[in-house]
Amino acid sequence: MVETKPHTTESIREILSSVLDPEIPVLSVIDMGIIREIGIDEGKVTVTITPTYSGCPAMHVIEESIRSTLLENGIDSVTLKTTFSPAWTTDWLSDTAKKKMNEYGIAPPVQIPHSALLQIEIPKVPCPYCHSSETQLKSEFGSTACKAYYFCISCHQPFEFFKPL
Ligand SMILES: [Zn+2]
Repeated sequence: MVETKPHTTESIREILSSVLDPEIPVLSVIDMGIIREIGIDEGKVTVTITPTYSGCPAMHVIEESIRSTLLENGIDSVTLKTTFSPAWTTDWLSDTAKKKMNEYGIAPPVQIPHSALLQIEIPKVPCPYCHSSETQLKSEFGSTACKAYYFCISCHQPFEFFKPL
């Protein structure tokens, strides 16, 4: 057997930072904050992830992508675990992630006061292109359940908003 540099949690994170979200391909699974734990035991790697929106079909794609990327990087045994507790929230998105999302043309989640949620008020979402808050909700559901469609009144650009959770 060829002796290779042993993997560390850091090197695994490094590899995982190349695994991109299929829906927002500028974000890695690290940016998304869905990697909860990385365990290494005698070359066997266990990755614990917390899915974002349970309704996102992309999660399976992401899991497969994590597995195949690790295998390609010379890890022979990959175990994926899923934990729902604590639940993923959009707060786990790093600031870099939110910045990248905005540059990609998706308005990152904004915090909505609880009272507003109770009244089912539509949040003011700033346009990712011109930053105007003169935007309109077009559809509660964008290309996936995680996103909503907005339209900017100022620059007439439609854009997607990643709904806060
Ligand atoms: Zn705009």
